[in-house]
Amino acid sequence: MMKDEKKNIAILGSTGSIGTQTLEVIAANPDHFEVEVLTANSNAELLITQAKKFNPNAVVITNEDKYAEVFEALNPLDIKVYAGEKALISVVEMDTIDLVLTALVGYAGLMPTIAAIKAGKHIALANKETLVVAGELITKLAYDKGVNLYPVDSEHSAIFQCLTGEFHNPTEKIILTASGGPFRGKNTDFLKTVTKAQALNHPNWDMGAKITIDSASLMNKGLEVIEAKWLFGVRYDQIEVVIHPQSIIHSMVQFTDGSIKAQLGLPDMRLPIQFALSYPNRLDSDFQRFNFADYPSLTFEQPDMETFRNLKLAYEAMEKGGNQPCILNAANEIAVEGFLSDKIGFLEMSDVVEKCMGILPHISQPSIEDYVNTDKETRIKALEIIN
Ligand code: NDP
Ligand code: MG
Repeated sequence: MMKDEKKNIAILGSTGSIGTQTLEVIAANPDHFEVEVLTANSNAELLITQAKKFNPNAVVITNEDKYAEVFEALNPLDIKVYAGEKALISVVEMDTIDLVLTALVGYAGLMPTIAAIKAGKHIALANKETLVVAGELITKLAYDKGVNLYPVDSEHSAIFQCLTGEFHNPTEKIILTASGGPFRGKNTDFLKTVTKAQALNHPNWDMGAKITIDSASLMNKGLEVIEAKWLFGVRYDQIEVVIHPQSIIHSMVQFTDGSIKAQLGLPDMRLPIQFALSYPNRLDSDFQRFNFADYPSLTFEQPDMETFRNLKLAYEAMEKGGNQPCILNAANEIAVEGFLSDKIGFLEMSDVVEKCMGILPHISQPSIEDYVNTDKETRIKALEIIN
């Protein structure tokens, strides 16, 4: 491939779990990708190390207290340094960016993603919360701007891979697999007493703290159901969740002739990240290969939505539509923070979400301002419930 065919990538949240793995993929494929922008919230030290190695055009540190440290380290290297949330929104508009990989956590990803789409940048989307909060608005905007949304989430990448070559064929059903997390099969008495250390110990994936808690509570799967609805344009009753503890089948698509396609492999986020960056091509990799001898059985179970209420709440929010998924997401972000700071127990996270969904006013056709206000008001309400 010629040098000028390289894709210039902006990584929002480069210091996190997805961000660092994205840089591994880029480092292994220097003929295909170039780093244009790196951003972090407050991990200045790692951001500086990454910038020295990948020599981006610009970096953003959203925590303004860390600006001086980053500026002093990178300005002599001719790397532009910006600080603050607004900088995240303007940096994605840079002419030289081809694709923006969104790996920030939570609602913080919404405005930068909107800005990137408006600027016509293709999106590799890890930040699922953006689609949960405002999926209708984001997918419409992307359609209007001719922007592609490439899924990074492993399940959605699997579905995307199953659909490749099938986009003209109707989908009957999407089957999202879920590992079930560390508390699969446990009852409410057990869950009442679990600690954050137990919840942070995921059996198959090593991820950031927020998504790890979401995985334990099945909220992650709920968010992914909503993410799938928007990415693949299906109705909520066409999305089924099946527990698959080995995390080898990453998800499936059932077509109208009854045929099911699945995508398999060892759990390794670098594969979906690489596919999102290289689509429609597949690049060589040295990722560990799957060996059937190591997995004599792949098993499947039904999710327990009575014990793990978050999944049911997510289906309810999706069915109601409008600003309900935004309420679900904001309440959950506060609930997870509450659990991680020992203010509430594991099961109380669902109580906070359910109460907020019952209290906050429903808006059926939210504008962007409505989403911003719903997010803000839900956070206030959720904090009141917790404190
Ligand atoms: P991490 O917590 O590991 O990393 C988050 C990144 O975003 C860090 O670079 C962090 O900076 C930055 N960041 C966090 N909050 C803000 C903020 N308010 N403003 C600006 N930057 C911020 O998260 P993950 O990498 O695990 O997850 C990222 C996204 O990808 C999430 O939406 C998650 O659901 C999704 N995802 C993750 C998977 C995984 O395997 N990890 C799998 C599938 C999806 P700093 O380091 O300075 O704090
Ligand atoms: Mg996932």
